[in-house]
Amino acid sequence: MKRKKKGPADLPPAPGELRLVQAFVNTVDREAKKDELASPRALAEWLARHGLLAPGTELSAADLTRATEVREGWRSVIAGQSNEQVAETLDRATESALLRGRHEPGGRMRLEPAAGGIDGALGRLLLIVSRTQDDGTWERLKVCASSICRVVFYDRSSNRSKRWCRPSCGNRLSSLASKRHSRGIRRREREAKRRAQELAYGHLEELSDAELETHPEFGTMARRLREREERE
Ligand SMILES: [Zn+2]
Repeated sequence: MKRKKKGPADLPPAPGELRLVQAFVNTVDREAKKDELASPRALAEWLARHGLLAPGTELSAADLTRATEVREGWRSVIAGQSNEQVAETLDRATESALLRGRHEPGGRMRLEPAAGGIDGALGRLLLIVSRTQDDGTWERLKVCASSICRVVFYDRSSNRSKRWCRPSCGNRLSSLASKRHSRGIRRREREAKRRAQELAYGHLEELSDAELETHPEFGTMARRLREREERE
C-alpha cells in the first residue's frame, strides 16, 4: 500500500492562536504544487472555516492578491529575509485593517480590526503576529531550509536549532549536497584531462577511447573516468 505523502497540514501545530498564522502561511504546499488559496472563493472559504471571515462573504481577485502577498511576506519575515518591500506590504495590510482598541467589561483593552472583508481577516492574523511576537512564541516559527519545501514549522527544540520541518527535508538536502560535491570532482577531473590534452598532447584528441586507455600517462585517468561513468 502506498503511503500518503505528508504535507504541511501533518506538521505538529504551533501553540495557541499562533497555529492560525502557521496554517495560513502553509496554505501553499510547494512540493506537492498545491495551493489551498487558489481562487477568491477558496480564500473566502478558508478564512470562514478558520473563523476569520463571515461565512458567505465574497472576495475579489484583488483580495486574493493582497492575501497571498501578506502570506509570502510572513514567510520572508519568519525566514529572516524581510526587506523594505515586505515591511511595506505588511504595513499596508495593518493600515487597511483599521485596528482599534476595545475595552472589555473587566477593563482589559483588546485591539481589533474595524474593517470587514479581507482587511478585517488579515487584521485578525496581524494581531496574532503582534501578540505572539510579544509573548515570544513567534520566535520559534521557522521556514524549512529546504528550498523545495519552505513550509513553516514550530521549533520546539531547547536550543531552537531545527532547520528542517521534518527529517526527510534534511536528508534530501544532504544527499543533494553530496551529489553536487562528487559532480564537482568529476568536472574538475574532466577539465584537467582536457587542459592537459590541449596544452601538450594535442594529438590525444585524435585517439579513440580504447587507445587513450592504453596511453602511458593518461591511461589510468581515462580508465577511471570510464569506470565511474559506467557505474552511474
Ligand atoms: Zn521541509
